[in-house]
Amino acid sequence: MNRRTFLGRGGLALAGFGLGGCAATSSRRGGSATSRRAPINLAPVRASWDRVIRTTVGLRPHRDSGFVLRAEPLDAKTVIHNYGHAGAGMSLGWGCGVMVAEMAQDTGQRRVAVIGCGSPGLTAARQLQRRGFDVAIYAMSVPPDTTSNMSLAGFTPTTALVNNDRRTPAWDAQFLRAAEISYRQLQLMVSQSYGVYWIDSYNAADDPTPGQGGGGGGGAFDADLLPEYLRPNRNREILGPGEHPFPTRYAVRTPALSIEPSIYLDALVRDFLMFGGKIIIRKFDTPRDLMSLTEPVIVNCTGLGSFTLFDDKELVPIKGQLTVMVPQPEVHYRAGGRTPSGANATMNPRSDGIVVGNLQDPGNWSLEPDEGVRQRNVQAAIEFFGAMRAPSPGARFTRSAPPSVAPAVETFFDSESRDPRHATRDPQQRTKDTKTRKTRKTKDERSRPRPVRRPSRSHAR
Ligand SMILES: Cc1cc2nc3c(=O)[nH]c(=O)nc-3n(C[C@H](O)[C@H](O)[C@H](O)COP(=O)(O)OP(=O)(O)OC[C@H]3O[C@@H](n4cnc5c(N)ncnc54)[C@H](O)[C@@H]3O)c2cc1C
Repeated sequence: MNRRTFLGRGGLALAGFGLGGCAATSSRRGGSATSRRAPINLAPVRASWDRVIRTTVGLRPHRDSGFVLRAEPLDAKTVIHNYGHAGAGMSLGWGCGVMVAEMAQDTGQRRVAVIGCGSPGLTAARQLQRRGFDVAIYAMSVPPDTTSNMSLAGFTPTTALVNNDRRTPAWDAQFLRAAEISYRQLQLMVSQSYGVYWIDSYNAADDPTPGQGGGGGGGAFDADLLPEYLRPNRNREILGPGEHPFPTRYAVRTPALSIEPSIYLDALVRDFLMFGGKIIIRKFDTPRDLMSLTEPVIVNCTGLGSFTLFDDKELVPIKGQLTVMVPQPEVHYRAGGRTPSGANATMNPRSDGIVVGNLQDPGNWSLEPDEGVRQRNVQAAIEFFGAMRAPSPGARFTRSAPPSVAPAVETFFDSESRDPRHATRDPQQRTKDTKTRKTRKTKDERSRPRPVRRPSRSHAR
């Protein structure tokens, strides 16, 4: 792991706001980058020191060779490892959870202990419950005191996840499956009750050429790991000079799938308990301690805890740090860009506050906020958002919307519910099927009142 590479990469990418994406999709939807459209109006971000309410730190569990997802015997028990998700543990949980459940099914047992109550632990526990397992979670800390609660947390399935030279075909296959399943699952959870939502993300830059999406920490980028349809930055729309309020020539807008960690993790805990799960607060110091559990199958979702518990010295913490300002419910977009003085500013609005800045500091085990980083992040936000054009008086704010092209409904189903007749067919065929079904309405559908047409993702919003 190269610490200089980690810290030296552009701050936008580090913060999950990478200008990345795919060149093939970088053309502006609906016109060239030079024709002027009515400017969009975005609510101003009131970035100032007196609005800072807290700074949080979390340690991402990174391994150069990527997450561990495998089963192995431990005396008479089976341990299924599921840890080391680096900056992607909020993004990949549901898919890894399906593979955990399949490994558990192979044991023929029905009682499982999941160790860890962050995103990987809770999603694995839910996938097990969905397959009829009797599940207990054991953890030394539960939400809101987990790394997962300290996450930003967007759908960023590749962030600092794996080094290209350490990948194997078997790992790649697990990763792709995890990303596909998780992306579909999170789309289905979009609601206030789960804290999952779509939001417009703006990257303000003088050069709108797409960079490398994802990656970070010297790790593989989106283009290395993900097919086009899974890349978070694929729906890029370039706003030209005068069309956006940022202090740069261009702004690149992409719809981003995002999670509010505190709402999401509490909702997962609630669901887990509602479906008969138990949570026991307990710390394990060695694998021997696990032998005192009565469950024959143990799922290890301890993240960095595996450094000590399973002596995995490949694990490296990548310290992250976020500073939070007083919430602004009217701000409903993410933004990031370089300030005139060359600093990187990022902003992510949540109901629990306006989150600014980020950090990727590998090898740093400290859970103490770094004051220098805090100063830099807040100052950059003050400079960048202070230079934003104010909206025209009386103008309606531009609202975020989900991507205009929604995935085919069949792609939402994972292995359990997928119709086997569809499983082997190619996704394009499935999209065609959906379109055909859409045009042939049932009598019931025809008699329903027509929905009010939503304005398109144009500047009318
Ligand atoms: C600043 C920041 C931004 C991030 N942004 C994103 C993002 O945008 N998208 C994304 O997908 N991910 C993001 N992440 C990464 C994500 O938060 C992590 O991948 C994820 O939280 C890792 O979860 P975990 O289960 O490994 O750790 P945790 O959430 O900490 O869970 C580990 C659990 O194991 C328990 N445990 C550990 N050791 C023991 C033990 N010995 N005995 C008993 N229990 C034990 C802990 O108590 C805890 O319950 C971000 C992280 C940070 C810090």
